[in-house]
Amino acid sequence: MNGSHGAVGRLYGVGVGPGDPELITVRALRIVRSVAVVAYPSARHGRSNARAVVAGELGPRHIELPLIYPVTTELEQPKAGYEAAMHAFYDASAAAIAAHLDAGRDVAILCEGDPFFYGSYMYLHDRLAQRYPTEVVAGVCSVMAGAARLGVPLVRRDTEMTILPGTLEESELATRLQTGAAYAIMKLGRNFAKVRSAVERAGVGDRALYIERATMAAERIVPLRDVDPQSVPYFSLVIVPGSQVLPDRDALRISQIAARPGRVCVVGLGPGASDWVAPEAARELIEATDLIGYAPYLARVPERAGQRRHPSDNRVEIERARHAFELAANGARVCVVSSGDPGIFAMATAVMEALEAGPPAWRTLDVHVVPGISAMQAAAARAGAPLGHDFCAISLSDRLKPWEIVAKRLAAAASADFALALYNPTSSQRRWQLDEARAILLRHRTPQTPVVLARDIGGPSEALRIIELRELDARDVDMRTVVLVGTSTTRTFDAPGGRRFVYTPRTYGTAATVGSATASDRA
Ligand code: SAH
Repeated sequence: MNGSHGAVGRLYGVGVGPGDPELITVRALRIVRSVAVVAYPSARHGRSNARAVVAGELGPRHIELPLIYPVTTELEQPKAGYEAAMHAFYDASAAAIAAHLDAGRDVAILCEGDPFFYGSYMYLHDRLAQRYPTEVVAGVCSVMAGAARLGVPLVRRDTEMTILPGTLEESELATRLQTGAAYAIMKLGRNFAKVRSAVERAGVGDRALYIERATMAAERIVPLRDVDPQSVPYFSLVIVPGSQVLPDRDALRISQIAARPGRVCVVGLGPGASDWVAPEAARELIEATDLIGYAPYLARVPERAGQRRHPSDNRVEIERARHAFELAANGARVCVVSSGDPGIFAMATAVMEALEAGPPAWRTLDVHVVPGISAMQAAAARAGAPLGHDFCAISLSDRLKPWEIVAKRLAAAASADFALALYNPTSSQRRWQLDEARAILLRHRTPQTPVVLARDIGGPSEALRIIELRELDARDVDMRTVVLVGTSTTRTFDAPGGRRFVYTPRTYGTAATVGSATASDRA
């Protein structure tokens, strides 16, 4: 579609739909594939939802033209300065696009949803459509995609639908929300609290649904009444389906969304650094109504207005787990937090025990476990790769199992030449266990076996020491430490700057012996 010599290029305003790459039209896709230049609005950090929809289609033959917004956050209240900055931004963007069109290159401007529905494309259209051959390609709009995802029809027969921007005054919104049958409210973000209050004033709060990132991976659908205003992104809208004689089926669907069962989510916070918290865990923590956990772990979770916190002492795991189910049985969304991974010497197991032993009704609740980076992984990463081959994890605590079992497992793991991660190596009450463990290990390993003492990894008092097994001493190890013990092949080496690495090679013996073993296997 590139213009021939002397001819200007064609401009396309292309709606790419709400986010799911399957919801772009065939025509839009064909145009994106064929044009020379693909332009799209982009935040300063480079993220562009419109580009993400067609990312798989873009290749080296395309010239990409990100149109970087002059502001990082969306400003809903028009200020003179904001208006002027946006005006200059559209002028500059239009000039950059015009340069390509003048050179005979076709340009597609990508727009989320539909280009003529609250899209920034319109401002470029105003500036360019008179001057260049232009075509606008309709896209699936977020309101329609949202309704489809809800599974609730919007309007029937002679009822009408009203689309409102959340930027209107609250009283204006409340008035207009009494005039129609179905409504969609766009541009939430910072307008959210006002929008919700208008919805309640208009008396339509009981059937108002909130949809975030409809059709994208992180889609979220909840009754409007359950939304935490601080969690509302720009990519969200409210849908109020038509009420007039709402068929039972639709009323049921809304009540199903509204009467979601309570939720117990066990979340691993990782070993201490906020960078090591999974995005899924962060999302669950934001959406929780209640947080339960050992007080120092809860202290790592940022405070959120409206969220209840139930800090507890250490060692009351079962009480904590039961408390979570009691709250969830009353409709709460509860996050039970653990450090590291919740399934490794942590709360997920206590939650399972409480669930199995608890009232049958608890099993109808929504129960979910979000994994985390465990202390041994973080410690191993800091040291190099000491757990790079077969390894096992053993807790030295004899609070929940007799010491004989611990001793037996240590001996078995050591004799089988596993690398070991020793959790709960000591505590203020348990002093002798680690020295006893060293004695057991020394029956199967040389005194020079590399050992990593990893204390508070990812936390403020992080410290890593690489020693030999013979030097392992309970006085150097506290409860915030995980101890990694190497195998018979684990090695260390030095790097400049006093850095030392520890790793366990991938093979036993030399590469040559491995090669010949493979050959004889084939023979
Ligand atoms: N669920 C946690 C383990 C809880 S048991 C996890 O997966 O990491 C508690 C033990 O974990 C502590 O005694 C210590 O051995 C280890 N540990 C937890 N966080 C740690 C950290 N940041 N640095 C070193 N060891 C840690």
